[in-house]
Amino acid sequence: MKQSMMFIPTLREVPADAEVKSHQLMLRAGYIRQNTSGVYSYLPLAHKVLKKIEAIVREEMHNAGASELLMPALQQAELWQESGRWYSYGPELMRLKDRHNRDFALGATHEEMITSLVRDEVKSYKRLPLALYQIQTKFRDEKRPRFGILRGREFIMKDAYSFHSSQESLDEGYDKMFAAYQNVFARCGLNFRAVIADSGAMGGTDTHEFMVLSEIGEDTIAYSDTSQYAANIEMAPVIETYEASTEVKQELVKVETPNQRTIDEVVNFLHVSKEQAIKSILFKVDEQFVLVLVRGDHEINDIKVKNLYGASVVELATPEETKNILNCVPGYVGPIGVNEGVEVIADHAVKAVVNGVCGANEENYHYNNVNVDRDYSVAKYADLRFIQEGDLSPDGEGRIQFAKGIEVGHVFKLGTRYSEAMDATYLDENGRSQPMIMGCYGIGVSRTLAAIIEQHNDDNGIVLPEAVAPFHVHIVPVNAKNDVQRELSEKLYSQMNNAGLEVLLDDRQERVGVKFADSDLIGIPVRITVGKKAEEGIVEVKVRKSGESFEVTTEELSSKLDQLLGN
Ligand code: ATP
Ligand code: MG
Repeated sequence: MKQSMMFIPTLREVPADAEVKSHQLMLRAGYIRQNTSGVYSYLPLAHKVLKKIEAIVREEMHNAGASELLMPALQQAELWQESGRWYSYGPELMRLKDRHNRDFALGATHEEMITSLVRDEVKSYKRLPLALYQIQTKFRDEKRPRFGILRGREFIMKDAYSFHSSQESLDEGYDKMFAAYQNVFARCGLNFRAVIADSGAMGGTDTHEFMVLSEIGEDTIAYSDTSQYAANIEMAPVIETYEASTEVKQELVKVETPNQRTIDEVVNFLHVSKEQAIKSILFKVDEQFVLVLVRGDHEINDIKVKNLYGASVVELATPEETKNILNCVPGYVGPIGVNEGVEVIADHAVKAVVNGVCGANEENYHYNNVNVDRDYSVAKYADLRFIQEGDLSPDGEGRIQFAKGIEVGHVFKLGTRYSEAMDATYLDENGRSQPMIMGCYGIGVSRTLAAIIEQHNDDNGIVLPEAVAPFHVHIVPVNAKNDVQRELSEKLYSQMNNAGLEVLLDDRQERVGVKFADSDLIGIPVRITVGKKAEEGIVEVKVRKSGESFEVTTEELSSKLDQLLGN
């Protein structure tokens, strides 16, 4: 490709509104442009990289036995009503009406669509298992679109779905997909980890997320410092046990704590440790109010609360609700004397707190020397807190450490969540009707592009691994007006093209400094500079990643490139 024909609008300045490296570089290198919040155009270079990522995904999906199809983005509301998600998905689902006033959604995901397709076509166990996938644009009206294409409102996803007649078959299909995902992300040159995840709104049980390790990741991974254990922090169970102190129980006292609302303020004011404090927070669990207690140095994990109740929505009670239910403002809430309509549940650690401190359900007052069972009762103890660094690893081996990750892929065992709701059944060997057992598997293709750039860059720009680079080689003549340089560049360009390499030739009438800066910015693995020594048949080869450069004769060039590009 001749560069004069390509559309690569590079920028010298770092765009002010781009916070993270990949977003800045994709704008500067002319990879993407924003249209509106969370909506981007992929310019030719990004488009080429996306096609490479997609090719890797297609190969691995093929190896995992999945076949490709393409379903509509425009989905009738009836499908989502059947599964129930029309009512539960919330504002992230983009909804619209057609001219007949019928409701539609733009596909945020395709469980409903594929389940309806397969239920109409597959009737017998003989046709199972079946795995299908597509690479398609998805729409989600994200609350906080950010970091460029890392969290867009329109983005490209590979989504695969599998249908099975037994749990064993699902397990097998899941393992194949899991392996395919490891191959995809390894081939993309990513440093990643597969972690145990929460199945969230999707329903289902077994699930893993593929996390690219990165400081800017929005997810926290809890991993063991000695074993292979790794989980999304949301999911990691806490297996710590707590010894109750042998301290003598003191008499309960109400103390004035003017304007001391947070745990830190209260423990400083009363000169007690955070471990002595009991944090009490009122939640709304579906339609029920629940007061959740954890120790002052711990954080409540609302997903654990949600899972404990099998609830669909868990939210903090609003200040108004807190006022109505406990007759108290947030900051002074506590478990003593709450009315019977409110269930009090506590993390295991709370049971061991002797002579603790908690809110008095009265503004500017706390209780001291609080003891459970004597002063208040707990309906249920459970694991309700987030795991912390230094906690025992849930597999019993080693201690927990944290890392940040960007979720690029997600594999789920859905089970019969959709097939039951949507009546997707097959006839088994005995002629009995059974719901299909399903799995689903997503890769954020456009997010993967950004994640690759987030991990592969330096001060001068993007440094793409060869497997996903938009071109293999960049030919840059130093002086575009020099006939010898221009002719040699053209000759090398056609030789390499014929040899099957993807080559970009910078044929622009630009200063060499500009050409070099652009070349570094856009991240092609190998640059060939055709300069003064063109007359002697000598060119300079520069490896983008290491910065190493050396001269070679045009005869040696092709074997040198074979070495460098590993083919
Ligand atoms: P997140 O927690 O980041 O919102 P999710 O759990 O909603 O992700 P899934 O529903 O599992 O994501 O979607 C499958 C994949 O699609 C994700 O692993 C991610 O790589 C990608 N993805 C999800 N939302 C976005 C988005 N807004 N922009 C770009 N990619 C996304
Ligand atoms: Mg999401």
